[in-house]
Amino acid sequence: MDPLKALADAERKPYWLDSPAKPEPLPRLLKDTTADLAVVGGGFSGLWAALMAKERDPSLDVVLLEGRGIGWAASGRNGGFAVASLTHGLANGLERWPEEITTLERLGRANLDEIGEAVRRYGIDCAYERTGELHVATEPWQLDEMRESVRAARELGLGYDVLDRDEVRAEVNSPTYVGGYWERDGCAMIDPARLAWGLRRACLELGVRVYEGTPVRHIRDSRATMDLVTPRGTVRAAKVALGTGVFQPLLRRLKHFLVPVYDYALMTEPLSEEQLASVGWRNRQGVGDSANQFHYYRLTADNRILWGGYDAVYYNGGRIRPEYEQRDETFAKLAEHFFTTFPQLDGVRFTHRWGGVIDTCSRFSAFYGHAHGGRLAYAVGYTGLGVAATRFGANVMLDLLAGEPTERTELRMVREKPIPFPPEPVRSAGIQMTRWSLARADLHEGRRNLWLRTLDRMGLGFDS
Ligand SMILES: Cc1cc2nc3c(=O)[nH]c(=O)nc-3n(C[C@H](O)[C@H](O)[C@H](O)COP(=O)(O)OP(=O)(O)OC[C@H]3O[C@@H](n4cnc5c(N)ncnc54)[C@H](O)[C@@H]3O)c2cc1C
Repeated sequence: MDPLKALADAERKPYWLDSPAKPEPLPRLLKDTTADLAVVGGGFSGLWAALMAKERDPSLDVVLLEGRGIGWAASGRNGGFAVASLTHGLANGLERWPEEITTLERLGRANLDEIGEAVRRYGIDCAYERTGELHVATEPWQLDEMRESVRAARELGLGYDVLDRDEVRAEVNSPTYVGGYWERDGCAMIDPARLAWGLRRACLELGVRVYEGTPVRHIRDSRATMDLVTPRGTVRAAKVALGTGVFQPLLRRLKHFLVPVYDYALMTEPLSEEQLASVGWRNRQGVGDSANQFHYYRLTADNRILWGGYDAVYYNGGRIRPEYEQRDETFAKLAEHFFTTFPQLDGVRFTHRWGGVIDTCSRFSAFYGHAHGGRLAYAVGYTGLGVAATRFGANVMLDLLAGEPTERTELRMVREKPIPFPPEPVRSAGIQMTRWSLARADLHEGRRNLWLRTLDRMGLGFDS
């Protein structure tokens, strides 16, 4: 079938948010109030920060302020890969923090375990399946990089199962695969919107006051309190945690470190039993290919396939706009790649197409910090891999606000900041040059041109 025909009836909205499980919105803040802790942002960062603040000290008065609705942004529209890595993958972590990588991997796995425990403890129905991730190579040159990753992982005692061409196709049947490896323990699949809504309920049950439709316009430091000004009321809080992702930061200095990058995804209709059997996929892993411009894909609870990635788009000027959430050129490309990967699914139709914006920073993994004499903390910059890592970031924010050093706050990864992006228009030119170079590298056996090699040497990059 023509890929465009398969897309013809796809709704232009995020599949996960288009669900009968979506709860009624909570009220806006309509008058002034006080709090021990005010959390800004109702994505995973803010939700975990509010929830864990109450778990640490149930007597704490916690307010969560969300400008629109809980989980409407990246947290409710992503691929649902909850990945243990806190460093945007082992290779990036090894490159930047080699002496800490054993600790970072241990903390990342513990964080993922604790997400699973919280999902069970609070009875959150988010289709949590710890099936791991299958990394597939579609070109021989990708196998060399894979061998390097597997060797490094084994030195750290991580169990990666290497699969040859036939073994990887026995897991998930695509004529495009030439090999791969299965990281069995490092990833869980979740329904992200249901996780966000479940965390909202858990917050409310523990006594967090959650206000939706309540954007914080600015924060004033009045010495005695931090005052969060919203359209109808001000919250006077002793402490503030910012989980505002890529959006206009309430702390100005953050804007130099973050760029908005759009990532896009498709969802198919549920596969029939015969269609699913033609792909295999009995172990239901998340799958990612290994190109610079990579695809990620997975099954849902009702056996649809979510198919996303490849194009990571920076719109010159760095603006965030609702119209950027739809990009027909990218959807057409994604649909075509889907049928190249799974020709046996010819005839399957897509039901949803959407995009979302991620908070890219130049080191690809989140950065953390505090301001206003330790009364405000932030964690941002997850660069497309924050489903699980945001819980770690929320813990870092709470540690920083508590003012006592912990194993987390002592990490070099937590203490250091990424290199800032240059101002516009150099920023746009540099990012588009990098995207072009990455696409070329994929066409030329992974060979990195002078521009990419220079960025590599400077520890700078662009990823999603
Ligand atoms: C298409 C797509 C696919 C992805 N796939 C994956 C994946 O498979 N695995 C993975 O690990 N990561 C993935 N990601 C990234 C992941 O979704 C994010 O890293 C993560 O959700 C970030 O959570 P957050 O809470 O920090 O930010 P967000 O979810 O963006 O939440 C920030 C919230 O803060 C609110 N806010 C901002 N400013 C204010 C203000 N001034 N006042 C009040 N509220 C404010 C916003 O309204 C928003 O709700 C993907 C992202 C996208 C877009």
